[in-house]
Amino acid sequence: MAEGIVLVLNAGSSSVKFRIAEESGTALYEGAISGIGSKPAFKLKDGAGKTIPLDLAPERMDEHQDALDLLLGIAAEFLPGRQILAAGHRVVHGGLDFAAPVIADAAVLDRLDAFVPLAPLHQPHNLAAIRALARLRPDLPQVACFDTAFHIGQDRIARLFGLPRALIDEGVFRYGFHGLSYQAIAARMPAVMGPGADGKVIVAHLGNGCSMCAMDGRRSVATTMGFTALDGLVMGTRSGAIDPGVVLYLLEQKGYTPARIADLLYRESGLLGVSGLSNDMRDLLASDAPAAAEAVALFVHRILREIGSLMMVLGGLDALVFTAGIGENAAPVRARVIEGLGFLGARLDGAANAAGGPRLTAPDSRIAAFVIPTDEEAVIVSETLRLLS
Ligand code: ADP
Repeated sequence: MAEGIVLVLNAGSSSVKFRIAEESGTALYEGAISGIGSKPAFKLKDGAGKTIPLDLAPERMDEHQDALDLLLGIAAEFLPGRQILAAGHRVVHGGLDFAAPVIADAAVLDRLDAFVPLAPLHQPHNLAAIRALARLRPDLPQVACFDTAFHIGQDRIARLFGLPRALIDEGVFRYGFHGLSYQAIAARMPAVMGPGADGKVIVAHLGNGCSMCAMDGRRSVATTMGFTALDGLVMGTRSGAIDPGVVLYLLEQKGYTPARIADLLYRESGLLGVSGLSNDMRDLLASDAPAAAEAVALFVHRILREIGSLMMVLGGLDALVFTAGIGENAAPVRARVIEGLGFLGARLDGAANAAGGPRLTAPDSRIAAFVIPTDEEAVIVSETLRLLS
């Protein structure tokens, strides 16, 4: 019998990103269904990244269930005879209850509903997709994999805000995100870095969303994202950490509604907001505009400041790892970060950096730096199959 396949799903408010994978995690197909609730669009690529033209123009797609129905149809058409073994979902929030992936049955989903107020932009849609797929395929095992779980072993002090205890007790503290990416990197680190992988390492996940995680012995001890995925570094369109007084100013002096402020902080800030040009690092690095240069300079400055803070939690720094779109591809950004650590004895290997690593520093560098590509979907496949076996 042909090998089974696994669906990896990442559902947002109006889109479902997916991978159809072999049991090894290797992608057979990848893509996204967007425009749920408005004008549907379907993007499909094969495992090598080649776009597959699709003559599919559903007039309407009212909800996630319609999108998933379409996806099941595509899987059956492109992979006839291959059984879908399970679906693994990226779920943004597992609170403090879920330290590992879990079979997402009705009782678990009810518990995960409790975290909707903590991640209103993502959690309801993540859960809606699981429930929709359960209606379409009641017998298909589904697994929830959490972006928060990797950070769950952190010390309580690393998680606290200086807020009144009543708020802390109801769960207002730092959870951290990008955990599936950090788990993927932690698993790859020994092969790339050797024994240094188990030292004091800061991993910089620099994509559209950006965060850093301080790891000691490949476990998270601190991270730059906090209660939400807005905190920490400057990102493509998100502000990163700002003085909370700015939010009060927008509310009280400028009459902004909460929805308007959310739009501003999540979609109009970051590299896009500061440059006034683009959220894409490629555009900014290619631009002569002073505002583009300022956005890149701020991006690097915030990374260096946060490295300083994470180093203090670690009590030192042996190595730095870059990952995700910017981390894996933007050599000039990596160079500026490593050069910023020059006073600590970091020595960039310019040629290795230009070539994409994996090692980016000279042999005599006191802090080593590496590029390690992330693969969150492969983590979801392996965790999903592990739970089923
Ligand atoms: P996501 O967080 O959505 O998964 P990615 O990890 O794919 O995003 O990162 C996307 C970002 O990576 C893009 O917005 C772009 O700024 C950056 N990027 C991708 N390729 C390059 C490149 N060659 N040079 C500089 N930046 C790049």
